Amino acid sequence: MKKQKILVSACLLGVNCRYDGLSKSDPKIINLLSRYNVVPVCPEQLGGLPTPRPAAEIFNGTGKEVLESKAFVENRDNIPVTDNFLKGADQALKIAKLLSIKKAVFKERSPSCGVHYIRSGDKIIKGCGVTTALFLKNSIEVISDEEIE
Ligand code: SF4
Repeated sequence: MKKQKILVSACLLGVNCRYDGLSKSDPKIINLLSRYNVVPVCPEQLGGLPTPRPAAEIFNGTGKEVLESKAFVENRDNIPVTDNFLKGADQALKIAKLLSIKKAVFKERSPSCGVHYIRSGDKIIKGCGVTTALFLKNSIEVISDEEIE
């Protein structure tokens, strides 16, 4: 039987695309390769940000509010990166549409990929990242890496 295609946060597959130049390689996510055709994406890199890069966070809301222009994203050096986050989300969506992908497994707590929570300073707040918000708006199912058994 043909394997279903899914998008996966590249850092979970061992790609060194995180802000700190490292990955968050997770064996249970890598195991998905046996069941799915896995397409790795890193929205922050797709948005033109370098690796490594200063960590960024969403201010005044979550990814949903960033899409509505009610919140913004800034990195630790107080440089605005909202446009990069929006561009990265848009490019990840483009890849999903090109490949007719309807499901993604994303890294929890990231300002781009977070599904149920995002990090805000020292706190963890409820809400999703920018790319997840755009995917949900476009009827793509997004599952947190923490929900994978
Ligand atoms: S943007 Fe997503 S894929 Fe890229 S490093 Fe952050 S969590 Fe991983």
